[in-house]
Formats: sequence, C-alpha cells, structure tokens
Amino acid sequence: MFGPSEAELKRARRLLLSELRRKGITDERVLAAMEKVPRHLFVLPEYLPVAYEDRPLPIGAGQTISQPYIVALSTQALALTPEDRVLEIGTGSGYQTAVLAELAREVFTVERIPELSREAQERLGRLGYRNVRFRVGDGTKGWPEAAPFPKILVTAAAPRVPPSLLAQLQEGGRLVIPVGGRFDQDLWLVRHEGGKAVYEHLCPVSFVPLIGEEGWR
Ligand code: SAM
Repeated sequence: MFGPSEAELKRARRLLLSELRRKGITDERVLAAMEKVPRHLFVLPEYLPVAYEDRPLPIGAGQTISQPYIVALSTQALALTPEDRVLEIGTGSGYQTAVLAELAREVFTVERIPELSREAQERLGRLGYRNVRFRVGDGTKGWPEAAPFPKILVTAAAPRVPPSLLAQLQEGGRLVIPVGGRFDQDLWLVRHEGGKAVYEHLCPVSFVPLIGEEGWR
C-alpha cells in the first residue's frame, strides 16, 4: 500500500500552518512548535493521508486526537514560558503533550486508558522528548505531589471544573478546559488571580468526556 510521500506530508503540514494563521492563531512560538511536531506520526496508519487536515481523528479505544486549531488555541491561551511546568489531563496520542513539551520545561501528563498512555510514551520516547512524565489514572484528581502548577490543560470535556485541578493551579496561573454537556461544550481559560478564578470564554467545542471522580461518572 502506498501512502503520502514525505514531501507531500511536509507540504500538507505547511498548508495546515497557513490555515491556523488564517483562523487567528498569532503566537509564533506555538506555530513553530506545531510546524515541528509531526502529527502524522500520532494518527492511525489509515488516517495518514488526512493527518494534516484541521479536524479530530480517531486514535483507538474510542478516543480522538484533537483538532489542530483547538490544540493551537488552547496552547496559545496557556501563554507558556520556557520555565513552565504544565499539567496535562488526557494524554491520548501524545500529540498535544509533544507541543507542550516543545514550549515548557516539564510536562506532567495523565491518561486513564493504559494502552494509550503506553503508546504515547513509546512515541514520545522515539521522538526524543525527555521532559515528559506520564501517569495512568484519574486525572480529575490532578497530580498532587507535583502541585501547584502554573499551567494546566484538560483535553477532555468536564461537566464542571474539577475542584482538585483548580486547587492545584498556582496564583497567577492559567487553566484551559472544555466544560459543558456530553456532546457540546465551551472552551474556557481560567486565570487564578488574587485568590479568585476569572473565566474567559474561548470558543464552542466538542470533546470526548472527562471520566472520573470529579468528571463524568
Ligand atoms: N490531547 C490528546 C491528543 O493530542 O491526542 C487528545 C486527548 S482525547 C481528546 C481525551 C483523552 O482524555 C482521552 O485519551 C481519554 O481517555 C482521556 N481521559 C478522559 N478522562 C480522563 C481522566 N479522568 N483522566 C485522564 N485522562 C482522561
């Protein structure tokens, strides 16, 4: 079976980057990270020809790799610095993890499905990422031993912001999370300012559910 050539994949990735710019992504560091991370190595082989289309794709176990625009928008909203430690809930394929790992000092990522976490670990290991720590479990409880975090990203949809995650966000920190119903939600940037949570609406989204003690049961 013949798939797309390296040159075709590279061209498709460049076109995706132009599309992200057209849709309003302006952070050059985020765009550079997404130009560097090879999304086609994070999708199932049958989706290789559409790896650089701006849409979510199945990754097995009933889960998805997120739409590139949403990855870009979420990452941009986190305003990462090279010194940041980031907590990510929902490792999935590890694609968003890799984008975070390009921009931050250390990424702590939690996935509830062991096989997805294992595959993501292998993939990121092969790609040379050494600043990612993986955990299998219920991410709605966060990663208490490594808290507080200046940045937290949740890549599955919650019925409300899990209180444990809010508690693990440091003062001045940023949390990005989809919140809403089972099928349709809104992506929120939550800033922890002066002991209060300040909410900024980013856009409507449709994510798979965050399943756990402080998510969907
Ligand atoms: N960021 C991922 C990527 O780039 O491939 C996509 C994540 S996918 C949309 C959401 C992931 O969250 C799924 O892999 C799902 O198993 C995981 N998940 C759902 N509930 C979870 C929980 N309580 N703790 C950790 N992971 C969870």
